[in-house]
Amino acid sequence: MSHEIRTPMNAIIGLDNIALSDPETPEKTREYLEKIGDSAEHLLNLINDILDMTRIESGRMVLRNEEFSFSRLLEAVNTMFSSQCHDKGLDYQCYINGEVDDYYIGDNMKLRQVLINILGNAVKFTPVGGKVSLQVARKAQFDGKTTLQFTISDTGIGMSKEFIPHIFDTFAQEDSSTTNKYGSSGLGLAITRSIVEMMNGTIEVESTKGKGSTFTVNVTLDDVAGSEKTPDQEIHPGEMTVLIVDDDPVACEHARLVLERVGIAAEIADSGAAAVETVRLRHARHEPYNLILVDWQMPEMDGVETTRRIRSIIGNESAIIILTAYKWDDILDEAIQAGVDSFIAKPLFAAAVMEEFRSAMQRKNLAAKDGVKKTDLTGRRILLAEDVQVNAEIIEMVLQMRGVTTDLAENGRIAVEKFEASPEGSYDAILMDMRMPEMDGLEATRRIRELDRADARNIPIIALTANAFDEDVQRSLQAGLNAHLSKPVQPDTLFETLESLIGQQETEE
Ligand code: ADP
Repeated sequence: MSHEIRTPMNAIIGLDNIALSDPETPEKTREYLEKIGDSAEHLLNLINDILDMTRIESGRMVLRNEEFSFSRLLEAVNTMFSSQCHDKGLDYQCYINGEVDDYYIGDNMKLRQVLINILGNAVKFTPVGGKVSLQVARKAQFDGKTTLQFTISDTGIGMSKEFIPHIFDTFAQEDSSTTNKYGSSGLGLAITRSIVEMMNGTIEVESTKGKGSTFTVNVTLDDVAGSEKTPDQEIHPGEMTVLIVDDDPVACEHARLVLERVGIAAEIADSGAAAVETVRLRHARHEPYNLILVDWQMPEMDGVETTRRIRSIIGNESAIIILTAYKWDDILDEAIQAGVDSFIAKPLFAAAVMEEFRSAMQRKNLAAKDGVKKTDLTGRRILLAEDVQVNAEIIEMVLQMRGVTTDLAENGRIAVEKFEASPEGSYDAILMDMRMPEMDGLEATRRIRELDRADARNIPIIALTANAFDEDVQRSLQAGLNAHLSKPVQPDTLFETLESLIGQQETEE
């Protein structure tokens, strides 16, 4: 059913986006369109919840058991909720107690879903001025397994004693006006509990009406064998020197410890001004830091200003990464102009630092090689395989906004034929719907990849699917797809994916 339900939703949300991006749309209509968009998103969430619940009840939901970056997961969750809380006027904090590893084995996506559901409720049911927090602690480590405890607390509206025993039931809501007021379904926690139980974990709740709620989740994950899991091959942590700039001594010490554990020696500066002086000295001695981590929010001289001054001394030398507890959209342009290479959400993890450092260095090298070059989409040609006409029209219109032309194939077989018949290099990328009559997207991708011509191997192929389940993502990557976008495709996500994949392919060539 999932395909059948989501396809019309795709058309509604897609066309709504297009109408909103038309500069000629009058203000009043724009308001209606925004409301249509909100309701459509709400309906889509509801549909996803119902589909999830059916999958759980029929035993079709499976857990993955794969190594994943726990630090990335936490970083993604923190970025999402610090920004949501910031927007709603709530205080958000994430604490980590004791040692937590960078990598574990388990189901990344499902664990993320659990945290997002509970934190999402905390934000939803906490009025302006309140607090939401996530605490992570290692409860036990034994026999190659680690039990992690997640405690999510809020100072929101809380629940009555009578309601608490029903909180995990399907469609349970304390107050039926919730549905309209908060746009809820009453399915979120039922799904959450089922996932936690599939993981052999536990979930508990304590709540006082008018005071707030605390959810406690325990899950046991497998450790990654051999803690020698080095964050990176090309980078030698032992040879790196790092400067940490933060006015908060606790945060400095935490960062230093985290880096020390992977063999990186770090020095500390407790203010922007102190950092500028230390960097000046180092630069004069020709012993630059490899990496400078700068807290964004500092009194007197903030992270962006500190970066600007440091760059005026050292030029492009050293990678500079800003640390922030908030989303960085607001400062992005200013920070990049000041010379910031990247951003990391607090609390800090070694793996995230190494990953950002490596990609910052890669970008620096690339930029040095061929000047700063951003992939331009204008004049690009895309082969679009999509059987539903309205979806094809939406994507064509979206792509037109950026000067991209589209060639349509009504099913997978036609896509393979069109690609085969085109002169080499005619297309810059392929957008491939997964469910199509005659030949589906997976098969068409496999066939294109097998063709004996140079562009068949490296043309970016992006899966479009109404099916957001991660098992499908997995399969599509195996078939040779480079990326996976779930419908309804957001124009910005589509452009970013195209830019990055086309750019990547061109640098490789
Ligand atoms: P939904 O949020 O979609 O209604 P859930 O299953 O996630 O569904 O939650 C069920 C109900 O539990 C909510 O409608 C609300 O009444 C109550 N609830 C859940 N989390 C909280 C919270 N943090 N504070 C207060 N009430 C909550």
